[in-house]
Amino acid sequence: MYELTICHLYPDLLNLYGDRGNIIALTKRCEWRGIQVRVKQVSLNDPFRPDEFDILFIGGGQDYEQSIIQDDLQKGKRDAVREAVESGRVILAVCGGLQLLGRYYRTHDGKDIECIGAVDLWTHGGQERLIGNLVFECEFLKNEHFDGLVAGFENHSGKTWLGPGVKPMGRVLKGFGLNGEDGFEGAIYRNTYCTYTHGSLLPKNPALTDHLITLALRNRYPGFESLEPLNDAFESAARDAVIKRLMGKNSSR
Ligand code: GLN
Repeated sequence: MYELTICHLYPDLLNLYGDRGNIIALTKRCEWRGIQVRVKQVSLNDPFRPDEFDILFIGGGQDYEQSIIQDDLQKGKRDAVREAVESGRVILAVCGGLQLLGRYYRTHDGKDIECIGAVDLWTHGGQERLIGNLVFECEFLKNEHFDGLVAGFENHSGKTWLGPGVKPMGRVLKGFGLNGEDGFEGAIYRNTYCTYTHGSLLPKNPALTDHLITLALRNRYPGFESLEPLNDAFESAARDAVIKRLMGKNSSR
Protein backbone atom coordinates (compact mmCIF):
# COMPACT_ATOMS: atom_id res chain seq x y z
CA MET A 1 0.00 0.00 0.00
CA TYR A 2 1.24 3.48 -0.80
CA GLU A 3 1.78 5.95 2.04
CA LEU A 4 2.46 9.68 2.10
CA THR A 5 3.26 12.09 4.91
CA ILE A 6 2.07 15.67 4.62
CA CYS A 7 3.63 18.38 6.75
CA HIS A 8 1.54 21.46 7.53
CA LEU A 9 4.01 24.17 8.49
CA TYR A 10 2.78 26.81 10.98
CA PRO A 11 -0.90 25.71 10.76
CA ASP A 12 -1.81 27.99 13.69
CA LEU A 13 -0.21 31.10 12.15
CA LEU A 14 -0.48 30.67 8.38
CA ASN A 15 -4.04 29.66 7.60
CA LEU A 16 -6.17 32.24 5.79
CA TYR A 17 -9.36 31.84 3.76
CA GLY A 18 -9.67 28.10 4.27
CA ASP A 19 -6.04 27.23 3.45
CA ARG A 20 -6.40 24.12 5.62
CA GLY A 21 -8.82 22.82 2.98
CA ASN A 22 -5.74 22.10 0.88
CA ILE A 23 -4.61 19.51 3.44
CA ILE A 24 -8.09 18.00 3.50
CA ALA A 25 -8.22 17.78 -0.31
CA LEU A 26 -4.79 16.12 -0.53
CA THR A 27 -5.72 13.68 2.23
CA LYS A 28 -9.15 12.76 0.87
CA ARG A 29 -8.02 12.30 -2.73
CA CYS A 30 -5.30 9.95 -1.47
CA GLU A 31 -7.61 8.03 0.86
CA TRP A 32 -10.26 7.56 -1.85
CA ARG A 33 -7.56 5.68 -3.77
CA GLY A 34 -6.37 3.62 -0.80
CA ILE A 35 -3.22 5.71 -0.27
CA GLN A 36 -2.54 6.08 3.45
CA VAL A 37 -1.85 9.64 4.63
CA ARG A 38 -0.29 10.96 7.81
CA VAL A 39 -0.51 14.71 8.52
CA LYS A 40 2.12 16.28 10.76
CA GLN A 41 1.67 19.77 12.11
CA VAL A 42 4.86 21.71 12.73
CA SER A 43 4.85 25.15 14.33
CA LEU A 44 7.08 27.51 16.33
CA ASN A 45 9.89 25.70 18.18
CA ASP A 46 8.90 22.27 16.81
CA PRO A 47 11.64 20.23 15.16
CA PHE A 48 11.42 20.00 11.38
CA ARG A 49 13.34 17.58 9.17
CA PRO A 50 13.08 17.69 5.41
CA ASP A 51 13.31 13.89 5.03
CA GLU A 52 10.29 13.23 7.26
CA PHE A 53 7.56 14.24 4.81
CA ASP A 54 6.54 13.86 1.16
CA ILE A 55 4.45 17.02 0.76
CA LEU A 56 4.97 20.30 2.59
CA PHE A 57 2.17 22.86 2.76
CA ILE A 58 2.67 26.48 3.83
CA GLY A 59 -0.43 28.68 3.92
CA GLY A 60 -1.00 32.42 3.89
CA GLY A 61 -0.76 34.93 6.69
CA GLN A 62 -0.77 38.63 7.37
CA ASP A 63 2.47 40.61 7.63
CA TYR A 64 2.18 40.34 11.45
CA GLU A 65 2.23 36.52 11.50
CA GLN A 66 4.99 36.47 8.91
CA SER A 67 7.13 38.69 11.14
CA ILE A 68 6.66 36.28 14.09
CA ILE A 69 7.70 33.33 11.98
CA GLN A 70 10.91 34.92 10.69
CA ASP A 71 12.67 34.37 14.05
CA ASP A 72 11.64 30.71 14.22
CA LEU A 73 12.84 30.18 10.64
CA GLN A 74 16.30 31.43 11.50
CA LYS A 75 16.57 28.78 14.26
CA GLY A 76 17.05 25.93 11.78
CA LYS A 77 13.86 25.62 9.74
CA ARG A 78 15.18 28.00 7.08
CA ASP A 79 17.99 25.62 6.11
CA ALA A 80 15.71 22.60 6.37
CA VAL A 81 13.13 24.15 4.01
CA ARG A 82 15.89 25.13 1.56
CA GLU A 83 17.14 21.55 1.60
CA ALA A 84 13.59 20.28 1.00
CA VAL A 85 13.14 22.58 -1.99
CA GLU A 86 16.52 21.74 -3.54
CA SER A 87 16.05 18.00 -3.07
CA GLY A 88 12.77 18.10 -5.00
CA ARG A 89 10.27 17.50 -2.19
CA VAL A 90 6.75 18.46 -3.22
CA ILE A 91 5.84 21.82 -1.73
CA LEU A 92 2.75 24.00 -2.05
CA ALA A 93 3.01 27.53 -0.66
CA VAL A 94 0.12 29.99 -0.70
CA CYS A 95 0.39 33.79 -0.55
CA GLY A 96 2.25 34.60 2.71
CA GLY A 97 3.90 31.17 2.28
CA LEU A 98 4.94 32.08 -1.26
CA GLN A 99 6.44 35.33 0.01
CA LEU A 100 8.34 33.54 2.79
CA LEU A 101 9.94 31.05 0.39
CA GLY A 102 11.43 33.94 -1.57
CA ARG A 103 14.53 36.09 -1.07
CA TYR A 104 12.86 38.92 0.83
CA TYR A 105 9.55 40.65 1.51
CA ARG A 106 9.58 44.42 1.95
CA THR A 107 6.19 45.37 3.42
CA HIS A 108 4.10 48.36 2.30
CA ASP A 109 5.36 50.29 5.35
CA GLY A 110 9.02 49.63 4.53
CA LYS A 111 9.82 46.78 6.97
CA ASP A 112 11.93 43.90 5.70
CA ILE A 113 10.74 40.43 6.65
CA GLU A 114 13.58 37.92 6.47
CA CYS A 115 12.60 35.06 4.24
CA ILE A 116 13.85 31.56 3.48
CA GLY A 117 15.60 32.28 0.19
CA ALA A 118 14.70 28.88 -1.24
CA VAL A 119 13.10 30.22 -4.44
CA ASP A 120 14.43 33.10 -6.52
CA LEU A 121 11.49 35.46 -6.08
CA TRP A 122 11.02 38.67 -4.11
CA THR A 123 8.08 40.77 -2.95
CA HIS A 124 7.40 44.45 -2.39
CA GLY A 125 4.27 45.54 -0.54
CA GLY A 126 2.14 48.01 -2.51
CA GLN A 127 -0.27 50.66 -1.28
CA GLU A 128 -3.30 48.91 -2.74
CA ARG A 129 -4.51 45.44 -1.90
CA LEU A 130 -4.99 43.05 -4.80
CA ILE A 131 -8.28 41.38 -3.91
CA GLY A 132 -10.78 39.26 -5.76
CA ASN A 133 -11.43 36.04 -7.58
CA LEU A 134 -8.67 34.71 -9.77
CA VAL A 135 -8.56 32.42 -12.80
CA PHE A 136 -5.31 31.38 -14.42
CA GLU A 137 -4.27 28.97 -17.12
CA CYS A 138 -1.59 26.35 -16.40
CA GLU A 139 0.10 24.68 -19.40
CA PHE A 140 1.40 21.84 -17.21
CA LEU A 141 -2.16 20.78 -16.31
CA LYS A 142 -3.57 20.86 -19.84
CA ASN A 143 -4.43 17.65 -21.65
CA GLU A 144 -7.06 16.44 -24.12
CA HIS A 145 -9.70 16.33 -21.35
CA PHE A 146 -8.73 19.37 -19.31
CA ASP A 147 -8.39 23.08 -20.12
CA GLY A 148 -5.71 23.78 -17.47
CA LEU A 149 -7.75 26.54 -15.79
CA VAL A 150 -7.36 27.02 -12.03
CA ALA A 151 -9.80 29.13 -9.99
CA GLY A 152 -9.44 30.71 -6.56
CA PHE A 153 -9.35 33.88 -4.51
CA GLU A 154 -6.51 36.32 -3.80
CA ASN A 155 -5.96 39.06 -1.20
CA HIS A 156 -2.46 40.51 -0.90
CA SER A 157 -0.63 43.80 -0.93
CA GLY A 158 2.66 42.16 -1.89
CA LYS A 159 3.73 42.24 -5.53
CA THR A 160 6.08 39.42 -6.42
CA TRP A 161 8.70 39.16 -9.15
CA LEU A 162 10.46 36.02 -10.38
CA GLY A 163 14.16 35.48 -11.03
CA PRO A 164 15.41 33.75 -14.18
CA GLY A 165 15.41 30.15 -12.88
CA VAL A 166 11.79 30.24 -11.76
CA LYS A 167 8.80 29.72 -14.06
CA PRO A 168 5.34 31.18 -13.47
CA MET A 169 2.59 28.64 -12.72
CA GLY A 170 0.29 30.17 -15.28
CA ARG A 171 -1.10 33.10 -17.20
CA VAL A 172 -3.78 35.23 -15.49
CA LEU A 173 -7.16 35.31 -17.23
CA LYS A 174 -9.03 37.07 -14.43
CA GLY A 175 -7.57 38.85 -11.39
CA PHE A 176 -4.10 40.15 -10.52
CA GLY A 177 -1.79 37.18 -9.87
CA LEU A 178 1.85 37.73 -8.88
CA ASN A 179 1.94 41.51 -9.25
CA GLY A 180 -1.00 42.72 -11.35
CA GLU A 181 1.44 43.87 -14.03
CA ASP A 182 3.13 41.08 -15.99
CA GLY A 183 0.08 38.82 -16.43
CA PHE A 184 1.56 35.85 -14.56
CA GLU A 185 0.45 33.93 -11.50
CA GLY A 186 2.43 31.66 -9.22
CA ALA A 187 5.91 30.21 -9.39
CA ILE A 188 7.38 26.77 -10.05
CA TYR A 189 10.89 25.79 -9.04
CA ARG A 190 11.80 22.07 -9.00
CA ASN A 191 8.75 20.47 -7.26
CA THR A 192 7.85 23.65 -5.36
CA TYR A 193 4.62 25.33 -6.39
CA CYS A 194 3.92 28.83 -5.08
CA THR A 195 0.70 30.71 -5.66
CA TYR A 196 -1.37 33.64 -4.43
CA THR A 197 -4.51 31.50 -4.68
CA HIS A 198 -6.51 30.87 -1.51
CA GLY A 199 -10.01 29.83 -1.15
CA SER A 200 -9.30 26.85 -0.82
CA LEU A 201 -7.20 26.18 -3.87
CA LEU A 202 -7.05 22.38 -4.00
CA PRO A 203 -10.67 21.41 -3.25
CA LYS A 204 -11.72 23.66 -6.14
CA ASN A 205 -9.02 22.37 -8.47
CA PRO A 206 -8.70 18.57 -8.25
CA ALA A 207 -6.39 18.37 -11.30
CA LEU A 208 -3.78 20.41 -9.43
CA THR A 209 -4.27 18.28 -6.29
CA ASP A 210 -3.68 15.10 -8.28
CA HIS A 211 -0.63 16.64 -9.97
CA LEU A 212 0.99 17.24 -6.55
CA ILE A 213 0.05 13.78 -5.23
CA THR A 214 1.50 12.17 -8.38
CA LEU A 215 4.80 14.04 -8.00
CA ALA A 216 5.01 12.98 -4.34
CA LEU A 217 4.32 9.31 -5.17
CA ARG A 218 6.92 9.36 -7.96
CA ASN A 219 9.48 10.75 -5.50
CA ARG A 220 8.76 8.11 -2.89
CA TYR A 221 8.05 5.14 -5.15
CA PRO A 222 10.31 5.27 -8.22
CA GLY A 223 8.44 3.64 -11.09
CA PHE A 224 5.05 4.97 -9.96
CA GLU A 225 3.30 6.25 -13.06
CA SER A 226 -0.16 7.68 -12.59
CA LEU A 227 -3.15 7.88 -10.27
CA GLU A 228 -6.35 6.07 -10.99
CA PRO A 229 -9.05 8.60 -11.95
CA LEU A 230 -11.82 9.50 -9.48
CA ASN A 231 -15.37 10.50 -10.20
CA ASP A 232 -15.01 14.29 -10.07
CA ALA A 233 -18.48 15.17 -11.32
CA PHE A 234 -19.34 17.44 -8.37
CA GLU A 235 -15.91 19.09 -8.20
CA SER A 236 -15.89 19.69 -11.96
CA ALA A 237 -19.40 21.12 -11.95
CA ALA A 238 -18.44 23.52 -9.12
CA ARG A 239 -15.19 24.54 -10.85
CA ASP A 240 -16.91 25.01 -14.23
CA ALA A 241 -19.70 27.07 -12.67
CA VAL A 242 -17.31 29.42 -10.91
CA ILE A 243 -15.11 29.84 -14.00
CA LYS A 244 -18.17 30.46 -16.15
CA ARG A 245 -19.39 33.11 -13.71
CA LEU A 246 -16.00 34.81 -13.53
CA MET A 247 -15.07 34.59 -17.19
CA GLY A 248 -18.53 34.79 -18.65
CA LYS A 249 -17.96 31.63 -20.71
CA ASN A 250 -18.00 27.84 -20.45
CA SER A 251 -14.75 26.09 -19.69
CA SER A 252 -13.94 23.28 -22.08
CA ARG A 253 -13.94 20.52 -19.48
N1 GLN B 1 0.82 39.55 4.11
C1 GLN B 1 0.83 39.31 2.74
C2 GLN B 1 0.28 40.40 1.84
O1 GLN B 1 -0.69 41.08 2.19
C3 GLN B 1 0.14 37.98 2.48
C4 GLN B 1 -1.34 37.96 2.70
C5 GLN B 1 -1.96 36.61 2.47
O2 GLN B 1 -1.35 35.55 2.73
N2 GLN B 1 -3.20 36.61 2.00
O3 GLN B 1 0.81 40.60 0.77
